[in-house]
Amino acid sequence: MKPQTVEAVLYRPADVPEPPGAANFTAQALAEVQGWYTDRLGASFSIVPPVSFAAGQAWEEIAAAARGPGYAPGTACGFNIWRAAVADIASRGFNICDDSRTRFLLYFRPPLPAGDETPVGLGGTVGVENFGCRYARPGMFCMSDQMTRLLCGETTEALRAAGWDVPWFASTERAPRGAIAHELVHCWTELPHSETGHTITNSWWDWPEVGFLREEERILVTSGALVRA
Ligand SMILES: [Zn+2]
Repeated sequence: MKPQTVEAVLYRPADVPEPPGAANFTAQALAEVQGWYTDRLGASFSIVPPVSFAAGQAWEEIAAAARGPGYAPGTACGFNIWRAAVADIASRGFNICDDSRTRFLLYFRPPLPAGDETPVGLGGTVGVENFGCRYARPGMFCMSDQMTRLLCGETTEALRAAGWDVPWFASTERAPRGAIAHELVHCWTELPHSETGHTITNSWWDWPEVGFLREEERILVTSGALVRA
């Protein structure tokens, strides 16, 4: 794999404002994760400033599509709103298939009403091979829901008051950073989640107080995605 540059893509429905300072908060979080990789592995990735896109559709139109046929509840991310977002930015000239870049899509949407089971997804990887790229790695990963708001400095209390469900593992400022560090591993390797150990492939919510298993370190460093500091 080529040495990787991580590029954040801030995406929102037409009628949802980007959180204040979102680009700065995102760049800051990426810089912290970059430093953590250097700390743990002696090698890390590069960063470029985030780019922003507003969808042509308002949130209700997007949510209506997610409730339509072909979007069965509980299906993988390839069948939810992230896929539509990636297809949208690709159709507007954003080159998805750049094998020197790992993309981090932040999806800013409103909370769903209580009891609404629309399958919109929480976070994870999106296979770039689904968008015509001739490679699967480096991949792309998505973050949505309250995690994007935590990343942009909102408090758990404010998020709960706004109607977000905030699970324990995604309720701290460090959680989105740990999620970024974790998803990058998926974007670059086929490593499974470790079943034991206090590691980023297991308990990412404890970032930065987690590390890698020795084998994971070896695979990550030899993947070529990271450049020695
Ligand atoms: Zn994972």
